Amino acid sequence: MENKAYRGHVLVLPYPSQGHINPLLQFSKRLVSKGLKATLATTLFIHNTMQPQSSSSLQFDTISDGYDEGGFAQAESIHAYLNHMETIGSKTLADLIIKNKNTANPIDCIIYDPFLPWALEVAKKFGIFGAAFFTQTCAVNFIYYHVHHGLLKLPITSTPISIPGLPVLELEDMPSYISVPGSYPAYFEMVLNQFSSSDKADAVLVNTFYELEPEAVDSMSKVCQLLPIGPTIPSFYLDKCLENDNDYGLNLFVSDSFVCNNWLNTKPEGSVIYLSFGSMASLSNKQMEELAFALKGSKFHFLWVVQASEEAKLPEKFVEEIGNKGLIVQWCSQLEVLSNKAIGCFLTHCGWNSTLEALSLGVPMVGVPQWTDQTTNAKYFRDVWKVGVRAKVCENGIVEREEIEFCIKEVMEGERGKDFQKNAKKWRDLAIKAISKGGSSDKNIDEFVSKFINS
Ligand code: UDP
Repeated sequence: MENKAYRGHVLVLPYPSQGHINPLLQFSKRLVSKGLKATLATTLFIHNTMQPQSSSSLQFDTISDGYDEGGFAQAESIHAYLNHMETIGSKTLADLIIKNKNTANPIDCIIYDPFLPWALEVAKKFGIFGAAFFTQTCAVNFIYYHVHHGLLKLPITSTPISIPGLPVLELEDMPSYISVPGSYPAYFEMVLNQFSSSDKADAVLVNTFYELEPEAVDSMSKVCQLLPIGPTIPSFYLDKCLENDNDYGLNLFVSDSFVCNNWLNTKPEGSVIYLSFGSMASLSNKQMEELAFALKGSKFHFLWVVQASEEAKLPEKFVEEIGNKGLIVQWCSQLEVLSNKAIGCFLTHCGWNSTLEALSLGVPMVGVPQWTDQTTNAKYFRDVWKVGVRAKVCENGIVEREEIEFCIKEVMEGERGKDFQKNAKKWRDLAIKAISKGGSSDKNIDEFVSKFINS
């Protein structure tokens, strides 16, 4: 017999990629700790691939994106994928709500990723409370808000760019869909469409914490009531309040923690560079070569995540030649790695989860942003949070080996390196405070829960 004592039942709907599942799954766990039942709905393809295990209060269920056999890789184009996801996703989301209707715990709130704005229409059709959960920084959301509402005209013809609450931005600091006009039009439309109905949402949650971007949050709050609720990182790494919460728990790729930990544990404190370009890495052959030669030329150890799809881009015999100086893995538990004392810096693509994880674990960064919001995140961590450097890109679009070596040295040693470490430690302390009982994010989570329970 199902427990009726929950304070409510939330259905949580992430966009189906690692960087979106992680924060929404983690937020679900926080809601469970507040006495709610949570069901995370992934696509059938992801569910079948990962086979997540439900517990009594955190459940997993499915909708369909129309590509049950192969997911996104099966789609004809980005446009086709997003279209199918909307038509088939809306229908199967409605089916899921109906399935829960006559149970002890019908769904009374949908938390949706605004990359899927149609989910709000489904929620409203059933009279259910709908909350948008923005997975990117408040600053990035506010830039897209300005474009969506015609407050920032494109193409940008004069710089620097001023947006209230944000630092002055150059073109290279803007999300790539704006700085490189015409790139990925379907994704650009998707990020702007996040605001197509968000004013009808009953609550707007953002995966940031107030102390990290107070000006941006205050400024955007004038046009849209925001609740920053982050960082959404397993409790073990922050407040340690949730039991058995030391991993996101839903990995699209397999990692070998044993190999990484064993290797890292033999290295001195602060001696290793950790490199990862996230779950969708796709570097040019030349960029991979420059990175490889920079690492070979530097005096530091390195742990590099090179996804299976990227391996062929490594220079010939690279793995043999580096010996014990470096370890290359196809995937790792990034939180476990970042929290290992051996790590001295994180060379990152500046995905928002990776950036927030590094801030939360107090690890300085070298930014090599590639596209989407990564460029804006790099601007923030270099100039606002002051926890690292951003590598300069040459005219050919490549970050060359000398520049990579230079950036690594800046962060790993010297006076600036010490400042980065000091600042990183400050952000870690603030992140822990924000999510701990009575902290800014914790209070916002409570406010959100009471808002929908009393709605
Ligand atoms: N990640 C991981 N192991 C890896 C590389 C990445 O667990 O080897 C996780 C990382 O901790 C983060 C997510 O994958 O939570 C990547 O999200 P991010 O927003 O940084 O980048 P994206 O993959 O969306 O480009």
